[in-house]
Order: sequence, then C-alpha cells, then structure tokens
Amino acid sequence: MAINQLRRDPLTGRWTVTVMDEVNLQELARGQKSRNHAETLGAISCEYCEGQEKATPPEIVAFRHPNSPPNGPGWRIRVVPEKAPVLQIYGDLNNRGVGIYDVLDGIGAHEVVVEHPKHFVTLPDMTDDNVREILEAYRARIADLKRDTRFRYILVHKNYGEGAGSTNAHSFSHIIATPITPLRVKEELVNAMHYFQFKERCMLCDIVRQELKQQERIIIDDGHFVALSPFAARIPFEVWILPQKHETFFEQNTRYEQLAKTLKQILARLRKVLNDPHYVLVIHSGPNIEAGRFRGYWRTLEQDFHWHIEITPRLRGYTSFEIGSGFNINSIAPERAAVILRDGRLA
Ligand SMILES: [Zn+2]
Ligand SMILES: [Zn+2]
Ligand SMILES: [Zn+2]
Repeated sequence: MAINQLRRDPLTGRWTVTVMDEVNLQELARGQKSRNHAETLGAISCEYCEGQEKATPPEIVAFRHPNSPPNGPGWRIRVVPEKAPVLQIYGDLNNRGVGIYDVLDGIGAHEVVVEHPKHFVTLPDMTDDNVREILEAYRARIADLKRDTRFRYILVHKNYGEGAGSTNAHSFSHIIATPITPLRVKEELVNAMHYFQFKERCMLCDIVRQELKQQERIIIDDGHFVALSPFAARIPFEVWILPQKHETFFEQNTRYEQLAKTLKQILARLRKVLNDPHYVLVIHSGPNIEAGRFRGYWRTLEQDFHWHIEITPRLRGYTSFEIGSGFNINSIAPERAAVILRDGRLA
C-alpha cells in the first residue's frame, strides 16, 4: 500500500489527502460504491457487532466487563484502528516542497469508536451512561493521541446515515489525528485569537452570555451547557453545544454526565422533528498545544478558544451557487429552528 500524500493547494490554502493507491476506475465511474453502501446499510450485523471482535484489528481500548478478556465479547464501547485509514500511523511526515507545492506524507491516526455492542442502537436510544462513556472514550483517546507531537490536531467526528457519508447502520464515530490543523478549525482558532487580541475576552464566552440574555436561539440551558441555534447557522437546524464556563479543551471537561443528557435530548428532538435525519457531529476543541509550542503558535489559546460540539443535519445536497461561492443558503432562520427544537415538534 502506497503512503497517501497531503497536498496543499497554494491558491486556497486547502489541504487534500491524495490517495496514491490504484482505485477501481470502473467502480468509481459507475457509482458502484454507493450501491454497495446501500447493501451494507441494509445488513443486520457487521464487524462492529458484539461477537465479531476478531473481524476488526485488535482493540486500542475498550470499556468492558472486568472478567472479559480483550478482543472478545463483554464490552460496552470499543476503540479499534480503522481498517482502511486515510492516514497511517507509522513513518515520518517527510515535509517537502515540490516546486511551488507543499507535500507531506499522510501520517496520522484513524480510529473508530464503536459506541454500542448491538447493531441499530442509535445515540438517542442509548442510556445516559452509554453516552457518557462514549464521551469519556473520546477524552481518553484525545489525551493519548496528543502525546504524539507529530499530530497537531485530533478531530472527533460522527456521520449518521448514508447521506452523511456513513456506510454502516452500526453506531460509531471516528477519531482522526492530523499532522496539520484542519482549515475549518484553523479559521475558528484564528478568528477567536484576533477577537481576544482586540477585546481581551473569549468570543464564545461573549456569545454564550449574549445568547443566554437574549433567549432567542437557546434550545437547552441545563446550567452547565447550552445548546443553541448559531446566529449565522449554515444550514437548517444546525446546533452547537458549548460549556457555559470557559474551557479550551474538550478533554478537560468534568461534566460528561450532564453533557450526555443534553446531547441525547438534542439528537432525540432532531430525530423527532426532522424524521430521523442524517447528520454530522464534530467536536471542535483546542489543538495539540505541545505540537505547536516550539513554533510559538497559539500563545493565548487557553484564554481565547472555547470548545464546542457542532451538529449539522444533512437535509439536502449543496447547490452550485453554494459550491461555487462558499456562501451557504439556510432556508430556516435559526430563531425559528430554536423554537421548533425547544418544543420538540414542528409548529
Ligand atoms: Zn453491527
Ligand atoms: Zn470562553
Ligand atoms: Zn466550530
């Protein structure tokens, strides 16, 4: 297997993981993959189901019954390496310039968090303890991966449903460690830093304060976390969940029990209101501060950045205007989406 490359587009600053292996061009052209995905989605069991542990690479960590041996049944959550990782764990970055282009070898980590032993059990149906343990598994993996200073960022994300890119009905999420900070996150980090330089306050703390005062876009206020429709939501029913007290890193949080409850409620309401929509969930947390320290990056990070969860339902594809311009068109004002999600029903 050839090592994939990370290539930077000098015009946009965007990085692409370029797969260097041969792909089946006929499959690609025929859209064969999407048909196979539909078959996988229709399956009633998979390699992530309890009893199929030998079908995955050996587990990195698992929350399991004390008497159950690793890589066998008896677990509640398993974290395993992704079988077909886009970035591979061994090797050097081999950072180089090719003429005017920047290239890195595709070094990183790609892990799968299997969230439940049973097929078809989705997050809103799990117990609060299940969901709390999933969040704790994220914390453990982020903290461990951050010890490797080749990795500048650890992105936790989840696809629910085929439209969101998932190919399996089993509930799982991804953790990908990357040697560069993803552009979407970097934009947030830089904007938050500039806001801090100007105002000496955290932007998201200011947003939480204003939103709690205005009460127009708040969906849930549980006293520790707030779930809200962001002011400039990109798509209908986008939801952010943030800690109300300033906190830079998700993995430093100590209230996963409360967070699990609020997250479950939001997902259950989205399911009810939008008829089980496909969605993407990402955690935007502070980057690996150790990896950037000697470069002098992120000096005020711990004051200026505030972690949050973003949930974006996938209700439609993008229009050519959106793809060509980068503008998004949101057909439901966030204030209205907040009312609907507060009530948990379409008005
Ligand atoms: Zn399964
Ligand atoms: Zn803050
Ligand atoms: Zn974000």
